Amino acid sequence: MHPLIEKLIAQGPVVTDGAWGTQLQARGLAPGECPDAWNLSHPDRVEAVARAYVDAGSQIILTNTFRSNRITLADHGLAERAQELSRAGAEISSRSAAGRACVFASIGPSGKMLVTGEVTEEELRAAFSEQARALAAGGADGIVVETMSDPAEARIAVAAARETGLPVAATMVFDSGKDKDRTMMGTTPEQAARQLSEAGADVIGANCGQGIAGYVPLARRLRAVTDLPIWIKANAGLPVLVGGKTTWRTSPEEFASQVPALLEAGAGFIGGCCGTGPDFIFAVRRALG
Ligand SMILES: [Zn+2]
Repeated sequence: MHPLIEKLIAQGPVVTDGAWGTQLQARGLAPGECPDAWNLSHPDRVEAVARAYVDAGSQIILTNTFRSNRITLADHGLAERAQELSRAGAEISSRSAAGRACVFASIGPSGKMLVTGEVTEEELRAAFSEQARALAAGGADGIVVETMSDPAEARIAVAAARETGLPVAATMVFDSGKDKDRTMMGTTPEQAARQLSEAGADVIGANCGQGIAGYVPLARRLRAVTDLPIWIKANAGLPVLVGGKTTWRTSPEEFASQVPALLEAGAGFIGGCCGTGPDFIFAVRRALG
């Protein structure tokens, strides 16, 4: 096991952070605007999100770099800024953590499909390697490859992240099938566990896609097929539109009430995804005593 992961889990369950997208929107990010561009245009607001999570008790915070690979950034005309945005994102979180938390830098999916030939394996490899190197240069302590639907893309991203020598967490999004236990590509938790472990991830898990109650059976199924630590970041329930505005209905207290069940199911790293904020992390910390 990577020494940093060993050190983190030695003290018991590890609290990560909550969502960034919804927090940046609350600070003025416009619909359709590229959140990662704020690492250069509004570093103070990005830093405020990171610091709010550290203050709420996150032991690990992520970075505002979910889309900072050149393939995704090309949709915003920012492909050539990939290194700069990734590095700045890692620097902002490292500065905010200031030794009080670890920084696991976020690598999200490219948004392009390998199976349809929209993107090639070689293009993905190059883009994720470039991003991972810049995140490491910006001072990240680890990397999290997250919200992946396609295990083939996840494997490429994990391999690229591992080249940095940093510990790597890898999580997929289970939002499909009648029991919401498959990724959009049909991957089951058992298949995901095998593929992510084979790719060399130090921590595996799931994020986004559904509320926290649905993660209890998912964590249990992952636990049954792997010895690796399990990382879970659930949404604040499912989004509902209220007066044209996306709203999340789960309260921090309801969210935190599922923490004991999630721990019993095998989760070792717990945080939130879409709709969750610092108040959720504070409630999770409290639930852990
Ligand atoms: Zn999410």
